[in-house]
Amino acid sequence: MRECGTCTLCCKVMGIVELEKPRGTWCEHALPGRGCAIYDQRPDTCRAFSCLWLLNSALGEEWKPEKCKLVIVPDDLTKATRVYVDASSPDAWKREPYFSSLLDFMQKGLLEGRLLFINVGNKNSLLLPDVNAGWRLEDLGKLQEGDEVRLKRAGYPFATRYEVEVVRRSN
Ligand code: SF4
Ligand code: SF4
Repeated sequence: MRECGTCTLCCKVMGIVELEKPRGTWCEHALPGRGCAIYDQRPDTCRAFSCLWLLNSALGEEWKPEKCKLVIVPDDLTKATRVYVDASSPDAWKREPYFSSLLDFMQKGLLEGRLLFINVGNKNSLLLPDVNAGWRLEDLGKLQEGDEVRLKRAGYPFATRYEVEVVRRSN
């Protein structure tokens, strides 16, 4: 069973509804590198949260969020894998060995309809294959709770390309 230890990165990159804490800024209760100043009274969102590194021992120590600057969150309800990048290292996801693995996660996920999001602060992007460059990022702007991201595949199988549609909750 893994433990967070000195990692506190989710207290920076994640938004916490109960605290009205936006993504990408430290929680006012965070003790970076040490833990939470209100641990016994922390919100339910914090109590329920586990990142993928905690859940999946197949991810090596190099994937510990405080090292890679990435907090990976599986979301089975919406069939998504969300990668929250430390805004102080916005290109951390492009470094190796992470980049090749994220491309692999994305390709395998697409086979079962799972999307891989790269989120830096409030900016959301979708990592996709590209016929010419191998991969591309689709900028989705700021997503709100309930917005739905749909993918349409065209040109299969020889020149497969993906078209993205964002269905806003307010529509
Ligand atoms: S990002 Fe993961 S390992 Fe780091 S503090 Fe949060 S739950 Fe623990
Ligand atoms: S309340 Fe505690 S556990 Fe929750 S985000 Fe803030 S510092 Fe982290």
